[in-house]
Amino acid sequence: MTNKLYYNGQWHEPLHQDKIDVENPATREIIASVPAASKEEVNLAIESAAAALPAWRETPVEKRIELMDSFVTLLESRQEKLAEVIVSELGTPVRLALNMHVRGYLANIRNDMEIARNYPWVDVYDGYKVYKESVGVVACLTPWNYPMGQVILKIVPALLAGNVVLLKPSQKTPLVAYEITKAIDEAGFPPGVFSLLPGRGAEVGNVLATHPLVDLVTFTGSTKGGTEVAKLAQDDVKRVVLELGGKSPSVILKGADLELALKRTLDKVFLNTGQTCSAFSRLLVPADMKEEIEQLACEKIKDYTYGDPLDESIRVGPLNGAAQKEKVLKYMDIAKEEGARLLCGGDYDNAQGYYFPPTIFTDVDNLSRLAQEEIFGPVLCITPFEDIEDAIRLANETVYGLSGAVFGPEKDAFKVASNMRAGVIVVNDGKQTTAGPFGGMKHSGYGREGGIYGFEPFVELKVVYGE
Ligand code: NAP
Repeated sequence: MTNKLYYNGQWHEPLHQDKIDVENPATREIIASVPAASKEEVNLAIESAAAALPAWRETPVEKRIELMDSFVTLLESRQEKLAEVIVSELGTPVRLALNMHVRGYLANIRNDMEIARNYPWVDVYDGYKVYKESVGVVACLTPWNYPMGQVILKIVPALLAGNVVLLKPSQKTPLVAYEITKAIDEAGFPPGVFSLLPGRGAEVGNVLATHPLVDLVTFTGSTKGGTEVAKLAQDDVKRVVLELGGKSPSVILKGADLELALKRTLDKVFLNTGQTCSAFSRLLVPADMKEEIEQLACEKIKDYTYGDPLDESIRVGPLNGAAQKEKVLKYMDIAKEEGARLLCGGDYDNAQGYYFPPTIFTDVDNLSRLAQEEIFGPVLCITPFEDIEDAIRLANETVYGLSGAVFGPEKDAFKVASNMRAGVIVVNDGKQTTAGPFGGMKHSGYGREGGIYGFEPFVELKVVYGE
């Protein structure tokens, strides 16, 4: 199937020969080639989606949930296969692939089905009713770092809400999107309701973002890509949802449980080899506790074993590819130029393939490029602060505003949390769930995904008076 495109309820032979190779970052083998959809094919898919919209919008929500149930049941029966595909195209460790990339997001689908079942589709007021209608034709542009999750977070609420969907997955990780499409097809969604259009952002993405029949563009990716897409979409007054990058702080206050704070910070910054939008990549610590925290961090970093993603004991796999590795190495040079002190890890001179070890720098100037720019690798920056006000200032001294963590006595920790300009904040042992809204402020974008908040971008309001 990975040599075909999916639209109008069928797998189609590509009209052109243009292909994109998919590489396994652990072995550097080319494991598949997918077609690069052409403008002509994207147009055909959009037209089939627009034709399918009226009937799908009118399909009772119970029927949409029933189809989604068939879809998720198929995916649940293929969990190992999904994880295997994700490991091979992303390089993430096998345990993480199964537990987080697959099972975590399967739970999201069931949760969204409950939301659709209980959603207030009509609000009745005195003299008028407010109807929640689907937005229409939805284009989904997704990144490579959570190749299944980012797709699920968009297509599932969009379909349940009665939208028709066109998916352009990242060209680096399109294979799990094929597995998802296979399940959509087998579940029996009507023709045109879902399309898979692998290809390049600058080609497929641009056609989707500008086509007059597309009503909403939901984009997850870099701030650069998102702003380009938003500019294209705004000329046609399309709705736009942007889930963008981050450089999120973890703040340790005096009196914090250091074991907990370091475990949670390192877990998050090294998760998925540091290729997580909400990674806690800046650690802000009280100046007079810096040495103690540095020492503890260097002990704890040994727990983050890195290497072959197929080895079940490994927690950090390779970076996603040559471009990602070059990017991380570039920041190692920048760190030297900027005078950041390498604390542990970073034995990058000998690194083979796309592997790069978990690494910590300290004495990092918060205004340096190392602290300000998204590296998207397993690299933590430690920066000291003087007092709580200084910690808040440093936490917010970034163009991003996606996530953050605070550890310390409750009153102080909640003071910092309430002053942080970020969309998702964890305090002490608070547990992040998929039912809460996920998304950012400032250059981390707008719009939310997950739970009821991730459902609402896919509906629009219509009021009818006189009822
Ligand atoms: P990206 O380069 O911006 O690409 C994201 C998607 O958009 C890809 O499918 C890409 O196509 C397409 N695209 C990029 N530029 C485009 C343009 N100008 N016009 C049309 N389509 C375009 O991001 P990425 O490298 O895949 O993903 C990593 C980034 O995503 C990081 O910054 C990370 O923080 C962010 N992210 C954010 C969240 C969140 O929820 N906030 C979640 C995950 C990741 P190609 O196939 O050509 O690349």
